[in-house]
Amino acid sequence: AKGAGRGKHCFYEPAMHSEASDRQLLENDLRQALERGELSVCYQPIVRAVGEDVAGFEALVRWTHASRGAISPAKFIPLAEECGMIGKIGEWVLKTALAEAARWPDRVRIAVNLSPIQFNNPGIVGVIDRLLGESGVRPGRLELEITEGVFLAEGDATDETFARLKNLGVRLALDDFGTGYSSLGYLKKAPFDKIKIDQSFVRGAASPSSRNSAIIRAIVTLAESLNMDTVAEGVETHDDLQLIRDLGCSQIQGYIFGKPGDAEIAGQLARAKSVE
Ligand code: C2E
Ligand code: CA
Ligand code: CA
Ligand code: CA
Repeated sequence: AKGAGRGKHCFYEPAMHSEASDRQLLENDLRQALERGELSVCYQPIVRAVGEDVAGFEALVRWTHASRGAISPAKFIPLAEECGMIGKIGEWVLKTALAEAARWPDRVRIAVNLSPIQFNNPGIVGVIDRLLGESGVRPGRLELEITEGVFLAEGDATDETFARLKNLGVRLALDDFGTGYSSLGYLKKAPFDKIKIDQSFVRGAASPSSRNSAIIRAIVTLAESLNMDTVAEGVETHDDLQLIRDLGCSQIQGYIFGKPGDAEIAGQLARAKSVE
């Protein structure tokens, strides 16, 4: 199978399409995706719950494969983590997103996802410092989104890394909050500025039978007493939006306000919809 031409997967025997060989093919393609210009970054607005102005954007990477079309980051990010590509891809996303943010009004933030593997790489603080300097973006505008996975990795360079990042002046957000094994424990481990409440608590929270509204209420109360912002992720319906507002979340991200869009759309929104 390996000898066959790239992109000509169609004549493989069905047996060749085992998960393992498909993975291998995808991995080989991912190694070249950057040089081939197949990766791009899109931007989803994060909107203030009161007033609806745009507080910032989350940078989300996209891969348009030459023959397979769009491949979800939920599929290729884990692959990049396993095959040692995440550092390079993550750095490219950071650089691209900062270059874009440099063109927005200073009050508009840029949120970038950091894989646990990136975070636990000793060189990461230096990389972020350098990229901030090259872009000219004020460190307080950069928000690093970290999942609970950083605390599960071996070797605890994390305390020092958190301290050095805070020293740079960047903001830290705890992503996908509530999905880990020890969510409350993670809150005391690091100086987070923001909690992103996972979509699984947000979606359908307004339905009468849902227990999620009580959970969201508790998270918001907790965040407020620790002086953290809250973002509800994945808000799609007006009912959920209304509930999320009533529960006091400070920010909202979801299709109801905007899907991830290209840099041009983000730039227009950043100028038109952000208020001092
Ligand atoms: P995430 O960090 O939790 O990002 C939010 C995901 O939810 C995005 O999916 C976004 O498009 C989607 N989303 C936002 N609002 C809604 C909504 O109202 N309804 C629904 N159904 N979905 C919504 P996306 O872009 O497919 O990214 C999936 C995951 O891939 C991200 O989850 C993140 O974990 C990872 N990822 C994406 N870009 C990067 C990156 O540059 N670096 C790293 N390390 N991970 C990334
Ligand atoms: Ca995120
Ligand atoms: Ca999330
Ligand atoms: Ca997620």
